[in-house]
Amino acid sequence: MASYSVFKSPVLRNLAACRRQFGTTAAARSTRARIPAALEERVTQALDGMKKAGTFKTERVITTPQNSSIKVQNSTTPVLAFCANNYLGLADHLVVVQCISQFLDTCSNGLSSVRFICGTPKIHKDLEDQMSKFYGQHESGDTILYASCFDANAGIFESLLTDQDAIISDSLNHASIIDGVRLCKAKRFRYANGNVEDLDRQLTLAAEAGCRVKMVATDGVFSMDGVIAPLKDICDVVEKHDAILFVDDAHATGFLGPTGRGSGEYWGVMDRIHLVNSTLGKALGGASGGYTVGDKLLVSVLRNTSRPYLFSNTLAPSVVGAAEAAIDLVDNPTTRGPLLDQLWSNARLFRTRMSEAGFVLAGEGHAIIPVMLGDARLASKMAEKMLERGIYVVGFSYPVVPKDKARIRVQLSAAHTTEQVNGAVDAFIEVGRELNVI
Ligand SMILES: *Cc1c(COP(=O)(O)O)cnc(C)c1O
Repeated sequence: MASYSVFKSPVLRNLAACRRQFGTTAAARSTRARIPAALEERVTQALDGMKKAGTFKTERVITTPQNSSIKVQNSTTPVLAFCANNYLGLADHLVVVQCISQFLDTCSNGLSSVRFICGTPKIHKDLEDQMSKFYGQHESGDTILYASCFDANAGIFESLLTDQDAIISDSLNHASIIDGVRLCKAKRFRYANGNVEDLDRQLTLAAEAGCRVKMVATDGVFSMDGVIAPLKDICDVVEKHDAILFVDDAHATGFLGPTGRGSGEYWGVMDRIHLVNSTLGKALGGASGGYTVGDKLLVSVLRNTSRPYLFSNTLAPSVVGAAEAAIDLVDNPTTRGPLLDQLWSNARLFRTRMSEAGFVLAGEGHAIIPVMLGDARLASKMAEKMLERGIYVVGFSYPVVPKDKARIRVQLSAAHTTEQVNGAVDAFIEVGRELNVI
């Protein structure tokens, strides 16, 4: 066996060099366990159906780091990316990326276990403390890290609620909230998207059904529409019914609100939200990881009973280090200021020029700006023509959004220059005229 120090050498840390030195294992012979005919027939039909409906997904391969300008495989010219959740441009930020290599030098690649068995790393505790402080929860609150926000959502409801309780969920909540709610035995109520009167009604119904704890669950930002949930009004109703409020802030953490603390800060209600779940995989560096921040007691329950936490490996130390660096950048006014200024001036510029050009846009006050087109085929045709002009945007259609509400969802970033945003608008205007959209 090669000695550890050999692998630690900077030269051999390069994978290609390692392979040269030690050889690669011969590729295993291709084998295939036979699929029963009934399953093969069903999935073939399902896939054909998706292809006919235009909902079959293919993945474009990109060969550069995630940034405002990227290269797609087999194409020589770079394109401008307007479809990533890289709101602050931290996915490829020098400080964040350098931090990863620094942590790789001082920590292992991973823990090879869950935290309660093999010991919890100090850097994980540090990031949790940093998160709690970020939310002003360092005294009464705590933070628990997950491998993803999807996992945080999968664990939270089942851990905290029983069949004596109720979950009152916004009709447009993210798939991971829907799945998390499915795993929990609480009675389910649903209110129309962002509709506070309906929420009030559903909370009354939950009380009449004898539910003891009533948890209201909403996305902080609805990502298909670029709409910020009306949290101030929601808090009023939640308090009127003595319920608790859960917010999934994946599309707000790091950039929404005056200091980037998310939708709660945007509405000035951070201290009225009981639990926040969010992701490290969007604005905060774009790698992976999620967390719950909230009341100490509740987080303590999660550490002891939440299944994705107890039965899945914790975050890689390098990812934790990068997240710390990303939050440092957001927490520091000197670095945060220019990032937020650029992001919001890009979003304002795009919205103003696109509206003036006659496009119908959804949402408001967010860096997600959907260009509404209606027809699914028109949306995908338009996205194709935009790509030909060097602008990478994606069409969304049913079942991701309602039928006849197909759209191109544009996402602005602090990584975009003013010139790049203007270039995207110019391309939209050209293509829009060509397709008779404007
Ligand atoms: C993206 C997203 C998630 C999933 O986050 P991951 O960390 O990638 O698992 C969860 N909730 C919402 C609202 C999201 O937008």
